[in-house]
Amino acid sequence: MAEKKQNVPPKPKYPPKTGGDSFRIEANKGSHVRRVIAVVSGKGGVGKSSVTAMAAVWARRNGFETAVMDADITGPSMPRMFGLGYTDLVATEECLYPATTVTGIKVMSMNLLTKQEDAPVIWRSPVITGALKQFWTDVNWGNVDYMFIDMPPGTGDVPLTVFQSLPVDGILIVATPQDLVGMIVRKAVGMAKMMSVPILGIIENMSYVTCPCCGQQIKLFGESHVDETAQKYKIPVVARIPIDPAQTAACDTGKAEYMEIDYMDGLKDVLPAVGE
Ligand code: ADP
Repeated sequence: MAEKKQNVPPKPKYPPKTGGDSFRIEANKGSHVRRVIAVVSGKGGVGKSSVTAMAAVWARRNGFETAVMDADITGPSMPRMFGLGYTDLVATEECLYPATTVTGIKVMSMNLLTKQEDAPVIWRSPVITGALKQFWTDVNWGNVDYMFIDMPPGTGDVPLTVFQSLPVDGILIVATPQDLVGMIVRKAVGMAKMMSVPILGIIENMSYVTCPCCGQQIKLFGESHVDETAQKYKIPVVARIPIDPAQTAACDTGKAEYMEIDYMDGLKDVLPAVGE
């Protein structure tokens, strides 16, 4: 007897296109955001939020209109880093206005919407992604040259929503030295490719610690592999940031704008021009 043909659809020749414009949502009509940069990491605790804050502070110090969207909805840390809270948001019947830091960085975060900073957000994924989209559609960002998005770690639903819904111009990958040898960067590179978004560069955080007595650089996590990784994937190294207790203190006390951020000067070579 002839074998029964199974009704299996033919395999697509190419992986389905998940990026592109088809899922794009309209920004609030008061917003004019020129460049959107996503800051990603493979896992939590590597300093992604601190680096997002540093990038924003760098851009602001260099004269750009700057904004930070905290897409880490369940673990938001931007308000704490910039010393902002519930009372810093302004809402009208039509829209929400982001909170503004001392130097003029615009910030929107889930933690600005809850009175209690430590109230947990226990939401299912569609609710989280819905809130995130509202950060784009319902927040009047005004004029922004660079918006940095602090992404949740990994490659889940929220990063996917950001890449599909928002016009992301580029990705900055944050990793610690020990992550740079494994699959973490590979995954981030894979996601960027699938979403057709260029990777602007790698930032190695916690690269070394400087001995306060002799100034020697001590590599707590062993020799760095950042150059090797950068070469392998043809991605520039934007910064190597040391472990600096002053930085922890600044971020943890709302003084992110007073941080030492000269390490971030490499951004000038990789950020897309603002244009008109
Ligand atoms: P992530 O967003 O990846 O979870 P965070 O930016 O919240 O990580 O950083 C976790 C903790 O490590 C914070 O307390 C932060 O201040 C601290 N931290 C991050 N980078 C550095 C650094 N280079 N030097 C000192 N402390 C750092």
